[in-house]
Amino acid sequence: MALSEFELIDRFFTRIDAGVVERSEPDAVSTANSVAVGIGDDCAVLSLASGERMAVSVDTLVEGVHFLPAIHPADLAWRAVAVAASDLAAMGARPVAMTLALTLPQVDAGWLADFRSGLVDVSRFCALPLVGGDTTRGPLTLSVQVMGALPQDKSLLRRGAKVGDRVVVSGCLGDGGAALALLKGQWQTTPEHQQYLRQRFFRPHPQLVLGQQLLHCAHSAIDISDGLLADVGHIARASGVGIELEATSVPLSDALLSHPDRQQALAWALRGGDDYQLCYTLAESVKLPQGSYIVGRVVAGSGVRCDDGSDRAAGYRHF
Ligand code: ADP
Ligand code: MG
Repeated sequence: MALSEFELIDRFFTRIDAGVVERSEPDAVSTANSVAVGIGDDCAVLSLASGERMAVSVDTLVEGVHFLPAIHPADLAWRAVAVAASDLAAMGARPVAMTLALTLPQVDAGWLADFRSGLVDVSRFCALPLVGGDTTRGPLTLSVQVMGALPQDKSLLRRGAKVGDRVVVSGCLGDGGAALALLKGQWQTTPEHQQYLRQRFFRPHPQLVLGQQLLHCAHSAIDISDGLLADVGHIARASGVGIELEATSVPLSDALLSHPDRQQALAWALRGGDDYQLCYTLAESVKLPQGSYIVGRVVAGSGVRCDDGSDRAAGYRHF
């Protein structure tokens, strides 16, 4: 390695501060900056307001398993953080900080500079300063740990859905699955739609602002990482309820609708992964947040039923 480990960390991983600056007095808590001690000591120290609780989650991406070697390093950094931050969004947590454990096959300054630029961008977008991590040599692997703050007396969990709630999604589904198939050369569309799908895949936008809103009004929530059907299944199970989905109500992007096979498009929306929208349940009386779509109902019972609209007379399809 031309660079020492210390130089590498200093050059590529410090000052990724989400636009906030490290403060010297650990006691003066402000909501804008919870970082009392950042990179450079044995631990980072984070300040929470009194009465707050911390939400913590970690996600690992392994080359060849979670991403292809061809991915641009800036996109890789964005995706790794965005995927982890999506879990904070699903909990309604206010982003506080992140750490990054990075395993690199070799030190490539050009690669690291690109990776850093993606990290800086996503750190700002998610309001997550990088406060620590670990750097080791080995097959390319990234673990991003995210931390968020929650009020003592409020939580937004998978359990909590109530019979009669509307099941709501925060935006178009299926783009992740469609983008992956596009990247694998399995179908083609117009340059504009391709551009949109690539962006959705490589630069997902975790719904952090919406999540914090939902903390105060939704009964349950989850982020859609494994496909709508699988993820509402988690809400149903955790809440001890059934969920009925109306497939024809699931919002699909113009890019997804440009796929020649509508059934395939719908399959991506229902079963494809990597969308990173939120799915949540909301009492009838609560105003629907802007940009959200009602896709179903919480019912008594268990499991997920999906009316795919193609054969209503035949009743529900069971999953
Ligand atoms: P230690 O041996 O105490 O774990 P390290 O030498 O691993 O310390 O790291 C030195 C400092 O740099 C620590 O504050 C650590 O959190 C930080 N750090 C190491 N690698 C990374 C990384 N990839 N991203 C962000 N911070 C890092
Ligand atoms: Mg270490």
